[in-house]
Amino acid sequence: MGAQAKPAIAIIGTGMSGLACADGLAQDFELSLFDKSRGLSGRLSTRRAPAHAFDHGAQYFRAQSALFQQWLQPFEAAGHVQRWTPRHVTIAADGSQSPREDAHPKWVFTPGMSAIGRALVVGRPRWKLYLDCGVEGVEGQAGDWFLRAGGSRFGPFAHIVFAMPPAQIKALLPVDTSFSAALAKTQMRGCHTLMLGFAPSEAPQLDWQCAHFDDDVLGFAAVNSSKPKRSDDLALVLQTQHDWSQAHIEDDAVDATMKARFEALTGSQISASGYDRVHRWRYASTQTPAASPDQPYLLDHAQGLSAIGDWCYGSKVEQAFLSGATLATRLRA
Ligand SMILES: Cc1cc2nc3c(=O)[nH]c(=O)nc-3n(C[C@H](O)[C@H](O)[C@H](O)COP(=O)(O)OP(=O)(O)OC[C@H]3O[C@@H](n4cnc5c(N)ncnc54)[C@H](O)[C@@H]3O)c2cc1C
Repeated sequence: MGAQAKPAIAIIGTGMSGLACADGLAQDFELSLFDKSRGLSGRLSTRRAPAHAFDHGAQYFRAQSALFQQWLQPFEAAGHVQRWTPRHVTIAADGSQSPREDAHPKWVFTPGMSAIGRALVVGRPRWKLYLDCGVEGVEGQAGDWFLRAGGSRFGPFAHIVFAMPPAQIKALLPVDTSFSAALAKTQMRGCHTLMLGFAPSEAPQLDWQCAHFDDDVLGFAAVNSSKPKRSDDLALVLQTQHDWSQAHIEDDAVDATMKARFEALTGSQISASGYDRVHRWRYASTQTPAASPDQPYLLDHAQGLSAIGDWCYGSKVEQAFLSGATLATRLRA
């Protein structure tokens, strides 16, 4: 098949699922990738401050499937993926701490979780990449689709892959599809991430790198600066319980509540002059999945439309990868 004869596919969303799908399709299709963000990688995201850096989405990931392990190998060899061995504790409601055993290897992208997107696309110069380019509409007909974004029209595309959270897909789907019902039942919950960057003199003394809280407000904390190739100064990330965030998704002053809970549960005072910001994730974690591990994607082959993401059967980076990679295999068949 000559290069010009390859069918064109648009992938909307460059998180782990969109990247994995693109990589699987690259040999057989002309690819155009769109993302509304300025950077790649979606919820694998890294915020940079002058003396600190924060992974404010996914903290680490597991690689339990052979497919994901195999895909990661070249990135590990090039130093873009490294093992992280944090000390985990559980912090109970009365503030008592107990070690938490977790034998599964944990991996991080370096120098930040978002680095995987750039590491992948530098080796794929034929991909057409449109960043800071939120898709506002999809129009056309089966197998002959066009996208509207930023006053421009892109297309035609034989197939469109929607690689983003379900609520955002629902807003864009141009027609009723065979997977509309599965999409409609899917639900995600929010999360707030507080990023605290400390000067050396004000850094709290913590004897753990990951803390899991038995609390209504706080869910998890990570010492981000303890990951490989991160900043030297202490960078702490606090994340809420998803149910709490969902109930407070429109609130502005969540950071004060999060800090107060952390101080009460750990006895550590936190006053961070280097960086102190909260990020709200409207769609962080899956409550009701749309599909199953056997077929972790949604596809309407006749229309030339499909949907992928962690929400197809979980809430993790590996599930997002498998959703995208498995759809790519199906579309190549
Ligand atoms: C706070 C938090 C903590 C987490 N912790 C972990 C963890 O420790 N371990 C783990 O394995 N997983 C964790 N996760 C989950 C993990 O981040 C996700 O499973 C994975 O990154 C999802 O990838 P995805 O491709 O499905 O979606 P996303 O990463 O959400 O990608 C969707 C992309 O679509 C883009 N987009 C949306 N609408 C449009 C539009 N109209 N036009 C163009 N682009 C659009 C977005 O900008 C985004 O880049 C965490 C997530 C959050 C939020």
